[in-house]
Amino acid sequence: MKMVDALVALTAMACVLAPATVADTAPAQTNSIEIAYIPPKNAQHQPIYQLMKDRRVLERMQQLLSPFRLPRTLTLKVEGCDGEIDAWYADDAVTVCYEYLHYLWQSAFKRTKFEDVAQIDVLLGPLFDVFLHEFGHAAFDLLDVPVFGREEDAADQVSAYIMLQFGKAEARRLILGTAYAYKLEAEDPSERMTMTSFANEHGTPAQRFYNLLCIAYGADAQLFADLVEKGYLPMDRAEGCEGEYAQVRKAFERLIAPHIDEQLAKEVLDRTWLPDRATKLPTRPRSKPVNWITSKWRTWLKPGQFGSKQTFSDPPPKADLESAR
Ligand SMILES: [Zn+2]
Repeated sequence: MKMVDALVALTAMACVLAPATVADTAPAQTNSIEIAYIPPKNAQHQPIYQLMKDRRVLERMQQLLSPFRLPRTLTLKVEGCDGEIDAWYADDAVTVCYEYLHYLWQSAFKRTKFEDVAQIDVLLGPLFDVFLHEFGHAAFDLLDVPVFGREEDAADQVSAYIMLQFGKAEARRLILGTAYAYKLEAEDPSERMTMTSFANEHGTPAQRFYNLLCIAYGADAQLFADLVEKGYLPMDRAEGCEGEYAQVRKAFERLIAPHIDEQLAKEVLDRTWLPDRATKLPTRPRSKPVNWITSKWRTWLKPGQFGSKQTFSDPPPKADLESAR
């Protein structure tokens, strides 16, 4: 092809491609979150569906995430997952299963006393955490954020970092509520650890517990001083937490914060997000989570999840909670 012909051809191609290019570079916008309460298929999920709607949980999450300038709409939804206790991000949507919410709600009734944590926070901490963790995955995808290390750990760090930007009192409640839920999970005798538990892409509940306490202590050693004084966070680990938090802050501020509308974020974070600590939880849900046993096995048997070499004679893996979130 002669040079002139080649130029003509290139120009023509550019004209054809132009409209698509303009569409692809549409400016990222704040208020890019949509929400959906999917009516449950299982009648046993009706109370949690109603509770979520009555407390406007998705609307609150939508507000909380409104300052992020996203290139595409992100949908937050709650829906039934045929017995699986799970939550995930995929295809511009965060899905949190009613089964997982039911599990959280039940956890808040597992003990009568929660040490320094309010009962309501054992539900609210992980509730915020699951949406923020999945939002972490969404942010990595939508904002094309590179990640070193395990993405699951990075998503936990995004969640913890955002929780720590709330006012001190609320940040403390969210962190302790989430940590306590991990503690309950780690100490649950029915959650037997096996070799394959450690193959999971997520950290174990105990590791996620310590990682969370460490980031919190690293962010504010005064606000979280009691975590070390009472022995929840071993001194060996605590000594490096300021550095661990600084590392997370640097990554967040450099890679994600440029996509935040600062004024809107300030307004959002200035709001009160949590009800009074003494708020009573609505009645305890039915004691058996829906399809609990089935759920574990179904997740275990999900193709590819534990590799093709897994056989039916292997011991069942630790609860699918480990693979959740
Ligand atoms: Zn995850």
